Amino acid sequence: MSTNSTSKIAVIIGAGPAGLTAAYELLQRTDIRPVILEMSDDVGGISRTVEYHGNRMDIGGHRFFSKSDRVMDWWQEMLPVEAGVSESVQIRYHNRDRTVSVNPDGPDPGKSDRVMLVRERLSRIFYGRKYYSYPIRLNGQTIRNLGLRRIIRIGLSYAGARMRPVRPELSLEDFFINRFGKELYLTFFKDYTEKVWGVPCRSIKPEWGAQRVKGLSVTKALFHALKSIFPRDVSVRQKEIETSLIDRFLYPKFGPGHLWKEVASRIEKLGGEIRTGYYVNGLEWADGRVSAVRAICMADNRELLLEADWVFSTMPVKDLVAGMGERVPQAVKDVGKGLIYRDFIAIGLLYRKMTPCPEGCGGKNRIPDNWVYIQEADVKVGRIQVFNNWSPYLVKDPDTVWLGLEYFCQEGDDLWSLTDEELIRLGIREMEIIRFCEENEYLDGTVVRMAKTYPAYFGTYDRLPEIRSFTDSLKNLFLLGRNGMHRYNNQDHSMLTAMTAVDLIVAGSEDKEPVWAVNTEEDYHEETSK
Ligand SMILES: Cc1cc2nc3c(=O)[nH]c(=O)nc-3n(C[C@H](O)[C@H](O)[C@H](O)COP(=O)(O)OP(=O)(O)OC[C@H]3O[C@@H](n4cnc5c(N)ncnc54)[C@H](O)[C@@H]3O)c2cc1C
Repeated sequence: MSTNSTSKIAVIIGAGPAGLTAAYELLQRTDIRPVILEMSDDVGGISRTVEYHGNRMDIGGHRFFSKSDRVMDWWQEMLPVEAGVSESVQIRYHNRDRTVSVNPDGPDPGKSDRVMLVRERLSRIFYGRKYYSYPIRLNGQTIRNLGLRRIIRIGLSYAGARMRPVRPELSLEDFFINRFGKELYLTFFKDYTEKVWGVPCRSIKPEWGAQRVKGLSVTKALFHALKSIFPRDVSVRQKEIETSLIDRFLYPKFGPGHLWKEVASRIEKLGGEIRTGYYVNGLEWADGRVSAVRAICMADNRELLLEADWVFSTMPVKDLVAGMGERVPQAVKDVGKGLIYRDFIAIGLLYRKMTPCPEGCGGKNRIPDNWVYIQEADVKVGRIQVFNNWSPYLVKDPDTVWLGLEYFCQEGDDLWSLTDEELIRLGIREMEIIRFCEENEYLDGTVVRMAKTYPAYFGTYDRLPEIRSFTDSLKNLFLLGRNGMHRYNNQDHSMLTAMTAVDLIVAGSEDKEPVWAVNTEEDYHEETSK
């Protein structure tokens, strides 16, 4: 389908999943020419792959899963799924599972690069120098690790929470206690969540829990434990089994950025433009429309003013509002100023091998996990990625162990301000403290700082609709994606916001509600039946 808007231009701010999807969709379905302005020197946004001395890092670890067929088909069109032993494969993410058909003549990752791997997920919690399944399962290992006395305490506090739930549920702390009981909350949720957000769980909205702790509860863990003792029909699809108990997911051979580079190269082939190294610092607007986008070329500090028929913004909404000048209503400016983000440092550490451990280590003593949640109070690291287990092709030498240590922080705080050298030293020291790796096995390291990785559901988040009604009043401006809409969007949600915006342009509609409706369905956040 095509519009009548020959030679019209859409300026897209940001070359992450939302911005790239918007550009690709415009090129496929309209005559509008997309020009992307991206401040970094790479594409993919938070979902990029960072390359260092032949090793690749995935910032955060990105599983490719969507409940949307449109997104799943789109991904597979970009990178076909590897040939498999069966005709289909079951993949899973949180509360959802789905079947992906596999072409027996599909690509072989050993021979082809344009390929999506099917990977198995294992992630565990490391607490008290012991591993626990994630999400916590009531199995023999959990009982042995925690001890009977603690299990009884957990059981009693859980029963108490079920009988007398906190009402109304005002904070994330209330949310966790109502679902898990206070004792389990204190053991497994409080410290880690506060490490991630840097504020007490009491100050975080319960919606965050509803999005992230999808459908998990102690009742379900018990039910699952019983089901595994008395198995039913094993051919039944695993829809009833809780979200993250067994997972497979799709994963580009060279990490998430591999897919986004493929999209970027198609955009350029189709006539779109991607200008990296341009920092957008403002919009020109009047009479209910945006007329141009202002940016600084970071190489020479020169200003660029780019006229636009449409503007798609995936940059943080806080920065967008700040760059729209004095005429922005005071209340909207205040909400923008009050939006809070959490930032992120990933330290890549390459080792000859890990320290031997009794918890299922394989060759090179490598633990089998894709990632491990670190719940230990004596280290700052929040999560450890084992990149070898995401895709063997992320690692240059398969005889090495390539780890990503994730630290949650605030831009400009003490951790953020350490030099790369100091951060690498910190990572090496902490790997020794928790006995993951010895310093004398260390080979190489690098640091990636990512600002605004998590839009926070506190600060002025509650008043976001005030920004929305102002930006929606500018007919040709679309706020898209994760930080663009200040919403905890995954790649697929970010893509769907972009696809929906293009749908609206194609349909000639000015109602932006369908874009804001993406990723708001309650059943996607939390299982409806308790
Ligand atoms: C730890 C972690 C784990 C995750 N795991 C998963 C997962 O398993 N599966 C999944 O699907 N998703 C996952 N996500 C979410 C995923 O990373 C995001 O949903 C996705 O990258 C958002 O895409 P986006 O285009 O909306 O925004 P972004 O990826 O943030 O891209 C925005 C782009 O805009 C650019 N930009 C910002 N400001 C400006 C400016 N002023 N001028 C010009 N350019 C600008 C940025 O440089 C960036 O390239 C995870 C995220 C994190 C943090």
